[in-house]
Amino acid sequence: MKRILITGGAGFLGSHLCDKFINNDYEVICMDNFITGSPDNIAHLFGNKNFKFIHHDVTEYIYVEGKLDYILHFASPASPIDYLKLPIQTLKVGSLGTHKTLGLAKAKNARFLIASTSEVYGDPLIHPQTEDYWGNVNPVGFRGVYDEAKRFAEAMTMAYHRYHNVDTRIVRIFNTYGPKMRLEDGRAIPNFINQALRNLPVTVYGDGLQTRSVCYVDDLVEGIYRLLLSDEIMPVNIGNPDEITMLDLAKEIIELTNSKSEIIFMDLPDDDPKVRKPDTTRAKNILNWSAKVNRKEGLKNTIDDFKKRLGL
Ligand code: NAD
Ligand code: UDP
Repeated sequence: MKRILITGGAGFLGSHLCDKFINNDYEVICMDNFITGSPDNIAHLFGNKNFKFIHHDVTEYIYVEGKLDYILHFASPASPIDYLKLPIQTLKVGSLGTHKTLGLAKAKNARFLIASTSEVYGDPLIHPQTEDYWGNVNPVGFRGVYDEAKRFAEAMTMAYHRYHNVDTRIVRIFNTYGPKMRLEDGRAIPNFINQALRNLPVTVYGDGLQTRSVCYVDDLVEGIYRLLLSDEIMPVNIGNPDEITMLDLAKEIIELTNSKSEIIFMDLPDDDPKVRKPDTTRAKNILNWSAKVNRKEGLKNTIDDFKKRLGL
């Protein structure tokens, strides 16, 4: 049986990955300090003989008993409101946490996959974003704590690959959504759904004409699974290229929830990227992967999950 460590496993994406690997007959060790995650996301796995939880901050020395075949390093605040509240922890988990998990991969001879992000492209000057674009990031802006930590994490990953021969993978994840996102997560989709379901004003930042391209979590998990089992060392974008403005996304969610909410416009956060859309040609060619779930279907599943948790 293959044994995998998933850091940040009690978070949104990490908990879906725990499910994926448990369902594919892996032994899963989930490591988390609950700084933005929750035991609720993994509660159903406690009691499963192939699942183990370790409460630990991955910026500190990591000890795991026994063999490890794979390590997925997903620990990091990911919502802008989280990393603005937790700037030092965000920098530490991307830098020190990546160093510790790479050291563990080297010691255990495990394959290592880092969760990188479309934020490495910053406010992009080329559109859509291909993996060979180096990005346009403000290192001293508020988002710099996240963007630069992830850029450092990619550099550290390549250094361990080149200098220590660690078998590494880098996924650049574009905006992903789905069930289990925190109700108060602060990202656009959970905010809009939460507000629309309660008939509260839906908060669009700026003029709402900035774009994102949103991927349903099941598609992302499948892409990560394929990348982990592939031979690809260089970064691969995983995301859904279906681009939409935030204003249209807000309207779509109001319609899907049959909400009476009005849209209100609020200040645009500093350095908020104006456009974002993945070029997924590499994922298609190398992994034979592309996003399958269309936005309406993905949003409906997410709205159903939010309704349950809100008791509606
Ligand atoms: P999340 O906040 O739901 O999950 C992050 C998890 O990491 C949480 O459970 C948190 O408690 C844990 N964590 C943070 N610091 C830790 C530390 N020092 N030690 C141990 N655990 C720690 O966020 P998410 O959306 O699930 O994102 C997961 C990963 O995917 C992050 O690395 C993020 O940068 C990356 N990512 C996500 C998206 C997205 O759209 N969801 C996009 C790009 C990249
Ligand atoms: N946004 C918004 N209203 C909200 C939350 C976010 O208009 O209540 C905007 C935000 O300014 C950004 C986009 O939605 O332009 C996506 O934000 P999110 O936090 O989901 O992710 P980002 O891609 O910025 O990391």
